Amino acid sequence: MSERDSVDVAVIGGGAAGLMCAMTAGARGRSVVVLDHADRLGKKILISGGGRCNFTNRDAGPQHYRSQNPHFCRSALARYAPADFLALVERHRIAWHEKTLGQLFCDGSAKEIVALLLAECAAAGVMIRTGALIAGVERIAGSSRRFAIDLGGSVVEATSLVLATGGLSIPTIGASDLGYRLARQFGLAMVATDPALVPFILRADGGYSALSGIAVPARVACNGESFDEALLFTHAGLSGPVILQISSCWNHGDEVAIDLLPSADGAQILIAAKRGGSPATIARVLHDHLPKRLVQHWAGPHDLERPVARATDQDLARAARAFHAWTLVPSGTEGYRKAEVTRGGIDTAGLSSKTMEARAVPGLYCVGEIVDVTGWLGGYNFQWAWASGHSAGEVA
Ligand SMILES: Cc1cc2nc3c(=O)[nH]c(=O)nc-3n(C[C@H](O)[C@H](O)[C@H](O)COP(=O)(O)OP(=O)(O)OC[C@H]3O[C@@H](n4cnc5c(N)ncnc54)[C@H](O)[C@@H]3O)c2cc1C
Repeated sequence: MSERDSVDVAVIGGGAAGLMCAMTAGARGRSVVVLDHADRLGKKILISGGGRCNFTNRDAGPQHYRSQNPHFCRSALARYAPADFLALVERHRIAWHEKTLGQLFCDGSAKEIVALLLAECAAAGVMIRTGALIAGVERIAGSSRRFAIDLGGSVVEATSLVLATGGLSIPTIGASDLGYRLARQFGLAMVATDPALVPFILRADGGYSALSGIAVPARVACNGESFDEALLFTHAGLSGPVILQISSCWNHGDEVAIDLLPSADGAQILIAAKRGGSPATIARVLHDHLPKRLVQHWAGPHDLERPVARATDQDLARAARAFHAWTLVPSGTEGYRKAEVTRGGIDTAGLSSKTMEARAVPGLYCVGEIVDVTGWLGGYNFQWAWASGHSAGEVA
C-alpha cells in the first residue's frame, strides 16, 4: 500500500472476529484491509484450547452468553450458527472431534483454523498489514462516512471501520485497549471490564496450596448461577473449568459455594457405614469418595478422625456438609495475565444487533470480544467472534 490508500473496509485487529469479518466483506467484492500491530495474525487462536482450538460449541445459544443485554447476541448467533462454522472447517478438510459438552476441537492443531481464515481472506482478496501501529483514527472532515486511519507515515481511508481488537487478556501476545479508546473517542458507551474465565486466588492462611494438583468434580455456585465441572486446586487457589465458568459472574467480595461431592449424598454414605457396623473413621469412609489428601485437610477442623460408630447422625450430616457446602470468598483472580476473556466492553445499547454497526456513527462496526458479550467456557467465545464478525462482514 502507498502513502495514502483508500479501501471500502478497514478492520483493526486480525483475530477471530476481524478475520471472519474481513473474509465475509471481501467475498462480497468489497476492498478490505486488515490492520494488526502483531507480527502474525490469530495469535489467540493459536494458543486456544490447549493448542487445538475449541473452535465452536454445537449447542451455542444466547443462554451461554453474559451481557447487560442478554438478548443482543441472539440475532447474530441465529444467522451464523455453529453448523455454519463447522461446514467451513469441513470444507477445509480440517479433522475435528467433540470432546465433551458439545465442545468441538481440531484433531491436529489450532494452526489449521488460522490457516483456514487466512486462506478465505486471500481468496476474497483481503489485504493484510501486520506490524501496523495505529497512531489515530479520525472522521474525514466534510464527509459523513469516511474514516482516516493514521499509521504514522501512511494513511488508510475507509468507508467502513471495524473495531476487532478483542479484550485485554494475555497482554504478552498483543492484547491492547486501542479498540476501547477508539470506541470512546466516537462516543460509544462502555460497560466496565474485568478479567473473566480466570482462576481464583485464595488467602494463603487457608493452607490450600498444600492441596495443589488435586482435581475433583464439583458444583460451584455464585450470584444465583451454578456449574458442574472439574475443579483444580492450584498453588495460588482454585482453577479448572468449573472455577473459570463461575469467575465470570463473581465480583470482588462475593461468596462462592462449592459442593466437592456433587454426585453423592455424603450424610447417607456415612450413616449407612455406621448402620452397617463399620469400624472406620469418618475420614476413612470418605476416602472412598474423595481424594485422600483433600479429606485429610478437612479432617482436623471438622473432627473427621472419629469412628462413624461413635458419631450421632447429626454429627455425620455435619461432617458431610463440610464437603457439600464449602463456602469461601476468593481474595481475587489471577487477572488479565491468566484470564481467557474480558467481560464487559462496548455497550451493546449503542450497536445494532443485526449488523454490529454503531447507531450514532454510521460506518463504524464493533465485533468479537471487544463488545459486551462474554461466552461461557467451551467454544462459545469463538462462536460469538465468528457470528458477530460475519454479521458485520455482510454489510460493512
Ligand atoms: C489462553 C486462551 C485460550 C482460549 N481458548 C478458547 C477456546 O478454546 N475456545 C473459545 O471459544 N475461546 C477461547 N478463548 C477466547 C478467544 O480466544 C477469544 O474470545 C477470541 O479470540 C476473541 O476474538 P477477537 O477477534 O474478538 O479478539 P482476538 O482474537 O483477541 O484478536 C484481536 C486482534 O487485535 C489485535 N490488536 C489488539 N490491539 C491492537 C492494536 N492496538 N492495533 C492493532 N491491532 C491490535 C491483536 O493483535 C489481535 O490479533 C481463549 C482465550 C485465551 C486467552
